[in-house]
Amino acid sequence: MPDGQLITKGETELDTCLAAFASAPRAGALLCDIDGTISAIVARPEDAAVSQPFRDVLAALTERLGLVAFVTGRALEDGRRMISLDGAAYIGTHGLEVMAPDGQVLTEPQAERYISEVQEVAAAAARDLDCDALGVVLENKRTVLAVHYRLAADAARTRHEILTRVVEPARSRGLGISSGHFLFEVRPPLPFTKGTATRRLLDGGDYLAGMFCGDDLTDVTGFKTLHDWAARDARRAACAVAAVTAETPRPVIEDADVLVRATPGVYEALTRLLGAVGG
Ligand SMILES: [Mg+2]
Repeated sequence: MPDGQLITKGETELDTCLAAFASAPRAGALLCDIDGTISAIVARPEDAAVSQPFRDVLAALTERLGLVAFVTGRALEDGRRMISLDGAAYIGTHGLEVMAPDGQVLTEPQAERYISEVQEVAAAAARDLDCDALGVVLENKRTVLAVHYRLAADAARTRHEILTRVVEPARSRGLGISSGHFLFEVRPPLPFTKGTATRRLLDGGDYLAGMFCGDDLTDVTGFKTLHDWAARDARRAACAVAAVTAETPRPVIEDADVLVRATPGVYEALTRLLGAVGG
């Protein structure tokens, strides 16, 4: 593979998908994860940022496509702060919070009743984990507690401490747990995922072309939903684009149609999409 190659697998699938976007841009829907997809992974989530070239291409796509949506594990307001693009939809905390392109916010009402439980787990985690020594960063998203351990010097020990002091107690309270790169999340035990949010958005318009860009396990639910959506109507075309690094979980690679080299590869795919829709 040449060093400069950014699309590493699925050129043909990408071209087919772009042709569908080109034939009817207003019937095109782009769904995009944020961290690890359009912003590089950094040790502390608060330091992550979306670069100006990405913002420019995303702004131009938002003007041309029927839907651009940012689908993140971050709290909705946090994701929105990182992008701050009007006219886009935002999905926060893996589908628990949805903001439509018109600015209307719809938080899943069933999630509200778990907030006090999640907050008790968050308070116990802050008390029981020596975050500085373990290299843990707690991110309290109100309905979800994220426990990041990318900074851990001894990841196995830190992981064990998180499992013992946060994950097991949260499970015994009946809360849900999800995991990602150096990350555990304590969340309401409800079947909301990036996939259910993707379904909600795609069913909300007459779209014929769809693209979902992601990099982690939670994005696989979006990939699968996109594929199911396309399979239901022969006129629809879709492609799942995975931003791949050495840490990418295997299901992300297996379920994607197009593999690209980390965030620069996503930038290349989005630039080609913009070119296809007349940008
Ligand atoms: Mg991500």
